[in-house]
Amino acid sequence: MERFDVAVIGAGLLGCFAARELSRRKLDIVLLEAREDVCTGISRANTAVIYPGCDHKPGTLKAEMTVRANAGFDRLCEELNVPLSRCGSLMLSFGPRADAVLREKLRQGQENGVPGLRLLSANEAYRMEPALAPGLSSALFSPTAGTVNPWQLGIAACENAVRNGAQLRRNTRVLAMRTEDGSYRIETDRGVLTARAVVNCAGLAADRVQELLFPPSVRIVPTAGDYVVLDQNCAGRPAHILEYEPEKRGKGLTAVPTVKGNLLLGTTERENTLAYAAAECGLDRVKALAVRILPGLDFSEVIRSFAAVRPNPRSPDGSSIQSFCIEHPAERFWSLIGIKTPGLTCARELGSYISDRLATELDAEQNPLFTPERRGIPKPHSLPYEERKALVGRDPDYGEIVCFCEDVTRAEVLEAIRRGAVTVDGVKRRVGTGMGCCQGARCEQKITAMLAEALGVPESAVCKDGPGSEIVRAEHERL
Ligand SMILES: Cc1cc2nc3c(=O)[nH]c(=O)nc-3n(C[C@H](O)[C@H](O)[C@H](O)COP(=O)(O)OP(=O)(O)OC[C@H]3O[C@@H](n4cnc5c(N)ncnc54)[C@H](O)[C@@H]3O)c2cc1C
Repeated sequence: MERFDVAVIGAGLLGCFAARELSRRKLDIVLLEAREDVCTGISRANTAVIYPGCDHKPGTLKAEMTVRANAGFDRLCEELNVPLSRCGSLMLSFGPRADAVLREKLRQGQENGVPGLRLLSANEAYRMEPALAPGLSSALFSPTAGTVNPWQLGIAACENAVRNGAQLRRNTRVLAMRTEDGSYRIETDRGVLTARAVVNCAGLAADRVQELLFPPSVRIVPTAGDYVVLDQNCAGRPAHILEYEPEKRGKGLTAVPTVKGNLLLGTTERENTLAYAAAECGLDRVKALAVRILPGLDFSEVIRSFAAVRPNPRSPDGSSIQSFCIEHPAERFWSLIGIKTPGLTCARELGSYISDRLATELDAEQNPLFTPERRGIPKPHSLPYEERKALVGRDPDYGEIVCFCEDVTRAEVLEAIRRGAVTVDGVKRRVGTGMGCCQGARCEQKITAMLAEALGVPESAVCKDGPGSEIVRAEHERL
């Protein structure tokens, strides 16, 4: 039976960062992921904001981690070679109730140590964002807010963890656990292994994974939220992240100018669903709220809609849990359950928190070979002409465009497959194919053929995004 020091369950952002931070220590780490790829759950569908830290009560772990995480994000993104946009955010008020909310966020943020916060008059805000709707009352400016591509960050953290010695096992679902001779015996659908310690980062299933071994202490109640994405450089795209605090109590809206240049609008709150399909009523609500703050938006520029699922943590008595739910039900067993916003912002901090505690429990030394750097896949279209020409000279695949919207070459797609992409969306998450205005209509077929050839499977076995999403029907199914 295989033996590890630590088994991390779930390769979303939290699991990938837990593995990366643990790999700073001399530990045998295995990262177990049920799906065919990493970052296919909550980590690929969220608002993508790196929050400054105004939303949490002073003195809480959440507030402290968010402010620290935000301050370290430039360095983290440099290390992992992931683009970060420090565009800043404006929280918008159109009346007295929202004005009071903004004043409270300012007070809270200042107490939390968020740098550069300023309450702006309407005129100051209009100078920063001329396309805002009339009637603005005030705005809270947070210069340190930013945005990243969340799945790129998670994939980068995973690659870095593997580079530092962690083993990634995909298509490996944890089914049962028990303690045995002071270790954890973990049964998966690919066999049994043991680990001295377990870190449970199973996202929407984290409560059930902990309950494989311990009595229920936190329950996840899922709710869904809808998003729309507008084309790059769409009309009325703001320069800052906009957060709309409505005058009537209720869900507002966040508008994010993404690192790629799109505009992401979201989100809603729909009850008790595990479905990632967007709902028409939710999309209508997002659009209705969006035009209240940005009346010049043109929804004919919408290129995609999707839903996200929130893992809302509840106590066994049903009351909601506001703090980060870091469970430690037994020695050397840690669970992150129901981590919602700001889980992306704090993914590294949470990984580091658990890694430090496990290092003590396992008496682990530093890994002298740890390297924090990871190189991304080279992007020829961002290189100067001469460098691009030289690259094509060395490898002609850099001269063959596969995705015309995003200018992605055959060499990049092959490198994405070499680094672990096994689906069309896995390639997309690594090199951005299909992210443009045609949404893959022109490249999907080529990428399916490239995946089939590289993986040695028929095209009918290639999926868009996991089992059940096969793109091409097999010959016998066509008859
Ligand atoms: C709607 C929404 C918006 C958000 N917006 C923001 C934001 O703007 N800024 C911010 O900071 N944070 C945001 N967050 C939070 C952030 O997205 C998450 O905290 C983050 O993505 C972490 O996800 P995860 O790793 O816990 O879960 P996931 O990404 O879902 O990963 C869990 C993994 O566990 C695997 N798994 C499950 N069961 C098993 C098993 N038995 N065996 C093996 N593997 C298993 C799953 O397949 C999955 O891959 C948002 C969250 C939501 C829901």
